[in-house]
Amino acid sequence: MVLTEKQKALQQSIRKTVQKIIVPRAEDIDRSNQFPEDVVKALTKEGYMKTRVPKEYGGLDWGTLEFNLLIEEISRASGSMAMIWCTSAQSATMEKLFGTEAQKKKYLTWLANDAIANYAASSEPSGGTDMGGIQTTAVRKGDYYILSGDKYFLEPATHADFFHVFAKTEPEKRSRGISCFIVEKNFPGVSIGKVADPIGLRGAGLAEILLRDAKVPAENLLGPYNAGVRIARAGLDDASAIGGLPLGMAQSALELALDYAVSRKAFDQTIASFQAVNFMLVDMATKVEASRSMIYRASGIRDAGQNDVRFFVMSSTFANMVAYEVSQSALDIFGGHGVLDNWHPVTRVWRDAHTNYGAGGTTNLRRLVISRNMFTELSPSSPLSPFSAAIRG
Ligand SMILES: Cc1cc2nc3c(=O)[nH]c(=O)nc-3n(C[C@H](O)[C@H](O)[C@H](O)COP(=O)(O)OP(=O)(O)OC[C@H]3O[C@@H](n4cnc5c(N)ncnc54)[C@H](O)[C@@H]3O)c2cc1C
Repeated sequence: MVLTEKQKALQQSIRKTVQKIIVPRAEDIDRSNQFPEDVVKALTKEGYMKTRVPKEYGGLDWGTLEFNLLIEEISRASGSMAMIWCTSAQSATMEKLFGTEAQKKKYLTWLANDAIANYAASSEPSGGTDMGGIQTTAVRKGDYYILSGDKYFLEPATHADFFHVFAKTEPEKRSRGISCFIVEKNFPGVSIGKVADPIGLRGAGLAEILLRDAKVPAENLLGPYNAGVRIARAGLDDASAIGGLPLGMAQSALELALDYAVSRKAFDQTIASFQAVNFMLVDMATKVEASRSMIYRASGIRDAGQNDVRFFVMSSTFANMVAYEVSQSALDIFGGHGVLDNWHPVTRVWRDAHTNYGAGGTTNLRRLVISRNMFTELSPSSPLSPFSAAIRG
């Protein structure tokens, strides 16, 4: 997919902004594991937070491709910042797909201003891939739902203004009895629990949220009652819309390795002149280009209004695998120097890529989604289609 002149100009202007605002802070965000309020404010001022919000609610309504160009550039500088951006900006997708007019008016308008949001609060100690294993409950009491439970591994939980929380409305129905709620951080009974100290994507506000008889207005039920798994799955299907995140990490790992390979000398020559290292770099570059082609193509398909879930999930899964592998190769090219300094950019990108690998659903879960769609497409009557309880929900 070839970028238009307008898209190339946009990419250049984002690159300049990222260079100015994020690059000087990237190492400190990683070291401190502190949510970078100053950087988020500066990027919000550039209008980047409202890119996914429709114009009628005050947003910029960027296409998926433009949004991925933004995320790729941010991620190239800092995986953590890209994670904050993806989960916040993409929260708009939840309201766009499933919100009532009143919900859209309130939450999309808020996102178009300066809201920070969590895309999906599903995971719990008892249920990650298996959504049916979650224990958070929502019980209707008059005009409210009362939510009780713990959610963990949420980004950017420490600073999110609102969350999309999945809770069991009919626990006996397991995954068919889960609903989704828009939960504001200031609702009674909502608090932030333990803040994580992860190996990568540090500073992105990874934390638990605790719901202790949290009082959520009934009108904050998002989408149909008991349709939580379908709503969460729409988020996973949408992952190609944020494929720029692993793509930017892979690009960064490649650039770091290239720079090092042409400057580091061994046996009186640069290590890039050894064919083994050279071929490794060629393979890395090829994988990054393949990942970029898939992500841009998936974005183009989405922007053309077509829904190709099989390809969308393939492209985001492949981009994740490429970031994982290319960051590993980059670390190898740095020899001992890569692993001696925990805060070196090459270790950061390796830690970020490994942390991101299962963040929006593990590779196995993604494969299950691809296979369900692949077999349904090839043979709708196949007994293999859909063959997984995890996917049937
Ligand atoms: C940085 C980060 C950010 C995150 N942000 C969020 C967030 O905002 N919201 C949120 O809800 N969650 C979030 N998560 C949690 C993430 O979604 C879960 O970690 C993920 O879904 C896996 O769940 P789990 O860790 O419980 O692993 P498990 O579900 O216990 O899986 C363990 C292993 O078993 C495999 N497995 C499980 N079931 C199957 C199956 N049916 N077939 C084949 N293999 C299977 C998995 O692939 C994995 O390899 C985040 C995680 C990270 C690391």
